Amino acid sequence: MKNLLLVSKDTVVSFHYTLKNGDGEVLDSSQGGDPLSYLHGYEQIVLGLEKALVGKTVGATLNVVVAPEEGYGPRREDLVITVPREQWTLPDTVGIDEIVELQSDEGQSLPARIVDMQPDCIMLDANHPLAGVVLHFDVELIDVRPATDEELSHGHVHGPGGHEH
Ligand code: ZN
Repeated sequence: MKNLLLVSKDTVVSFHYTLKNGDGEVLDSSQGGDPLSYLHGYEQIVLGLEKALVGKTVGATLNVVVAPEEGYGPRREDLVITVPREQWTLPDTVGIDEIVELQSDEGQSLPARIVDMQPDCIMLDANHPLAGVVLHFDVELIDVRPATDEELSHGHVHGPGGHEH
């Protein structure tokens, strides 16, 4: 009998998932494609989900409910930003619900969704679309294996579902 490896730091974990919100609407799913693979222990997936997978083995199925604090964070009203028209540098063809890149003073870029356009100002929401959302994951564990030295030095998974190089 083969020893089953448990999910723990420095294992490569592959799993299928379906993500739903509290109303049962499907937000994202890996079903029908490759399973998602990640290097465990480095917060490469949502923290609440990574915690729930610890100690599990191949074949496990889980329902995991993740609060915003361990998901994409709470919604922050300070990330709803109003830009005066005269500071708006994008063409008039850019409209509501489109995603634009904001530049912070430190030069970081932050994607933000246009939520309203008024004659004198434009309102943007730079919250993650899943900020404030309680995440419901259905997970099936497909594979758990030790990470290779190369994967550990690169900090990511190689092969199917990971980096190809
Ligand atoms: Zn690599």
